[in-house]
Amino acid sequence: MTSHRAEAFGMWSLILFIVRIFEYHKEDPTDALSMVCDNESLVNTVNKITKRKRKEFPDETLEADWDVINEIVMLVKSYDQSIEWVRGHQDKAKKREDLPLKAQLNCEADELAEEAQLARMMEQLKRKMTRHPNNPIQVHARNVTITAKVKRNLRRLAKAPKLIEHIEKKADWPEGVSHTIDWEAHRTLITNSELPNKFVTKFVHNMLPTGNRVHLYKTYYDHQCPSCFTEQVDRRHLLTCLDPERRKWKGKLLKELREACDRTDVCQPMIQILVDGLYHELDDYQMENTTSHPDNLQQLIAEQNNIGWDQLLYGRFTLYNGKLRNTDISLTEKSKSQG
Ligand SMILES: [Zn+2]
Repeated sequence: MTSHRAEAFGMWSLILFIVRIFEYHKEDPTDALSMVCDNESLVNTVNKITKRKRKEFPDETLEADWDVINEIVMLVKSYDQSIEWVRGHQDKAKKREDLPLKAQLNCEADELAEEAQLARMMEQLKRKMTRHPNNPIQVHARNVTITAKVKRNLRRLAKAPKLIEHIEKKADWPEGVSHTIDWEAHRTLITNSELPNKFVTKFVHNMLPTGNRVHLYKTYYDHQCPSCFTEQVDRRHLLTCLDPERRKWKGKLLKELREACDRTDVCQPMIQILVDGLYHELDDYQMENTTSHPDNLQQLIAEQNNIGWDQLLYGRFTLYNGKLRNTDISLTEKSKSQG
């Protein structure tokens, strides 16, 4: 679920709850409500549609998260309301008690939402959703509800299983391993890569013009590694060549990776595993002494062992990684000291 959709659900459920309370007490909420939200794009969308005089165009129902936004708009319109935007996280710059009431309430709501999100982090997400009362049509495919970019997502759902089957065969994974991979993260990483598309596709699917391949159709090209003279150079050698010159980029890669991770919310023990796993992989030997890592990360290590640490370079991470990514760092540190 996108964060935009999650926030829209939050807004809808709260408005619905308040409206039902007023209905129960047979009161009119019109003048009693004041609604504030820190998601600017959601606020703008809802207010724009609410104020619109013309009828909705049919293709506007294809906009992302239309189903939830439509439910919000129906409620907001019937009670003649609009939603006000307030800047989020204002307590980062000022003491909370010095902020206006709406900003204080926003900070409190944010904390409660984070608490609820963490509590449900390890739950399996239901990908098939219930149809909302004012949404006459809902698209389900392969047990997934498509709520945005219908055409693109349908195409992806139709093609993905065959592609995954092909990747599985090429990677030579034992049965069941492909189900442990976060394919959504894989797709995002490939799509968002700043490298040229052609290179990324060739690299990920092992189609780079490495020595062993080019030599087959242009025999005048050498199949040897120009640095260490290993014969029939392939992608694996490209990554694991032990020549000192080639090792330089590996050190730089790991350093930059650690720095990039430090800028995110990934906890330190996870960064250490990522760097360790890649370090050993690039030096072409298996990670040793994995028991020194925290207990609650052992499953992650075991799953990535099955997938292969080299697969991290092709954007194939264990699903367990995504589930753990936002768990409390203190929890991780604690189990390390206990372990
Ligand atoms: Zn070499």
